[in-house]
Amino acid sequence: MNNRGMLIILSGPSGSGKGTIVRQLLEQRDDTVLSVSVTTRAPRTGEREGVHYYFKTKQEFERLIENGELLEYAEYNGDYYGTPVKPVEKCVREGKNVILEIEVQGAEKVMDKREDIVSIFITAPSLTELERRLRRRGSETDASIEQRLKIARWELTRAFRYDYVVMNDKVHSAVERIQAIISAESMRFARMEDFILEVINNA
Ligand code: 5GP
Repeated sequence: MNNRGMLIILSGPSGSGKGTIVRQLLEQRDDTVLSVSVTTRAPRTGEREGVHYYFKTKQEFERLIENGELLEYAEYNGDYYGTPVKPVEKCVREGKNVILEIEVQGAEKVMDKREDIVSIFITAPSLTELERRLRRRGSETDASIEQRLKIARWELTRAFRYDYVVMNDKVHSAVERIQAIISAESMRFARMEDFILEVINNA
């Protein structure tokens, strides 16, 4: 079997529940890891360096861009967010699936650069529900919520770029849907080619 891991992009508006879904998915799969991004935004309460993000200054971030250390990056709501390329490559080579939980512009850059991607767009059932979830989270100001909802509307218009759309009405159902996608994707011919050759050669 092809023993490279899969690179899985998970995008979706702020408040779509991506974070919770990813946490549950990782609890269920020990063959899958989450890429830790770099950002210039301030840490939220409880967020830890190297666990949730690597927190950098704008200058430090720009140096990472110049040195080609990011697989992709984007500006979102006034801050930079980016994916360090080295750990992603290392994990995929070691056979781990790597999840990139990233916004749409960055996701499109990865899709344009690489073909071996599985991309999933996660959405809440409605924008009203999205707003309710953002307010319940309590981590954003009214202005930031307004801005995130505006971005969400735009992000939904880019969902067509993704391989799959998963509606997050209930977290456990959304996780099951993503598990089904990962299972099916792992059986694509391209990922089974080495296995087929092995079967032929050992006949
Ligand atoms: P938050 O500020 O809520 O943690 O993240 C804001 C948005 O940035 C979310 O949509 C999140 O998925 C996205 N994001 C997090 N890390 C990255 C990254 O490395 N690259 C890109 N392009 N987006 C990211």
